[in-house]
Amino acid sequence: MKSRPRSRHWLLLILLVMVLAGCQANSPDQTPASRPEGNDASLIERTATSLPISPPAITQPAIAGNPAPGTETPSPTFVPPPASFEPSAFYTLTAVLNYSTHYIAVDQQIRYQNRSSEPLPDIRLMIEPAYYPGAFQLNSITSQSGPAIGEIAWDTGQITLPLITPLMPGEILSLAISYAIQLPSPTPSAETRPIPFGYTERQTNLVDWYPFIPPYREGSGWLANKAFFFGEHLAYEAANFTVNLRISDENSFHVVAASAPAQVEGEWRRYHLEKARGFALSVSTQYQVKSAQVGNVEVTAYTFPFHPAAGEAVLDTTIKALALFNQLFGDYPRKTLSVVEADFLDGMEYDGLYFLSNGFYNLYQGTPAEYLIAIAAHETAHQWFYGLVGNDQGNEPWLDEALCTYSERLFFERYYPEALDWWWTYRVNYYQPRGAVDGSIYNPEGYRAYRDAVYLNGAVFLEELRKTVGDESFTAFLKAYVDQNRNQIATAQGFFELLAQFTEADFGQLRQRYFSSP
Ligand SMILES: [Zn+2]
Repeated sequence: MKSRPRSRHWLLLILLVMVLAGCQANSPDQTPASRPEGNDASLIERTATSLPISPPAITQPAIAGNPAPGTETPSPTFVPPPASFEPSAFYTLTAVLNYSTHYIAVDQQIRYQNRSSEPLPDIRLMIEPAYYPGAFQLNSITSQSGPAIGEIAWDTGQITLPLITPLMPGEILSLAISYAIQLPSPTPSAETRPIPFGYTERQTNLVDWYPFIPPYREGSGWLANKAFFFGEHLAYEAANFTVNLRISDENSFHVVAASAPAQVEGEWRRYHLEKARGFALSVSTQYQVKSAQVGNVEVTAYTFPFHPAAGEAVLDTTIKALALFNQLFGDYPRKTLSVVEADFLDGMEYDGLYFLSNGFYNLYQGTPAEYLIAIAAHETAHQWFYGLVGNDQGNEPWLDEALCTYSERLFFERYYPEALDWWWTYRVNYYQPRGAVDGSIYNPEGYRAYRDAVYLNGAVFLEELRKTVGDESFTAFLKAYVDQNRNQIATAQGFFELLAQFTEADFGQLRQRYFSSP
């Protein structure tokens, strides 16, 4: 018997809580004994009643040249990064998955060039599967060329490889790693947090499933954040990936969604993805597959068979969102985008692929004013704010989450302006968002405080900022921000330095009001 939710009401309760943050991550193995702070049934009951809060008066047309009164736009002088960005790291993964026993054996090579100006005495490897007790089994790790490695030092979710001689600037280290993962099974439940990684009866998701080298910051070292109870903690350098996948118990019913298109060679699916934050896969025997084209990009929706109408709506929303964000933020850099119905209660972004909870599909009524639509637009926006433009998700999560939440607003503004009031009222203002927009995921006040500050107050801040600088400057700035930070890791400081080049309006007070470190 399939483990479908017992009742629609049950699902509504959980879903509405979990999704209000869009894509809030789990923290493997650090799940608190109590439920997340935001998982509060009384909150949901209140949500279901009519709300006295009026949405902000926003009547401007879709971002289109509406300078705020009294503001002028200076000529920006920023210098975009060189177009010829070359990643420091190349990952080659050869993986054999046994779908029915949930076991994957991997041989991995990492070619890493030290592109900093500092000698590196050690290499850090982030190993997310190691957060799950007994899941990750390291067989061997060896240096194939470059400095030899000393004794491995384990820490939670990561290891340090001391180098016998430092990796000098420009020098290349090649590592070979052999490991296996016994996948965990994060069954959807009101008692556990949603976890994308692992398998359910319906699907197997490989996300953050391989060791990778975190960004190296000159002066401060590896940017290697630890998982917390909520939020996404990782930061990723843009890297190149070659992935070879074989399903050892292959049958004709396996459908594989991935961050890149597959080339099938015999039993192998081969993938190549460049300048990406990661490589994700989702395998199922149930997916119904439907594709559509936006320019040169093929969007493919992988949907469970019982949700055809919602699957159509997700595909349609993603296509519309891609077209809009191409226009606003610059072209999506990939040939494909996979949209996968998730058997966990959340949405979650990966490069070239995003998950959207089946709970949203369950609740879909066929109108635009629904979470299915809002979160599909949100996750699509992550292809820019997370994918193309990286950030320190643990310490500056607003740089992707506030921008993606605000991108929902841009989506509705463009395609369904009649649903904007719903969006402001039920997605944002009902929660009376407050708190420093630049808070980290390590918020001691809990998940709701984090979400309300970073996602929701973040969107309110961006709305105020847009009004302050005017539509024209706001639009030009966002596009330049993406351009300048393409393949890089953006910072709040860089955000405001660039913004100052696009407006003479005084946004200092806004920053003081919404940020803890103005
Ligand atoms: Zn998000």
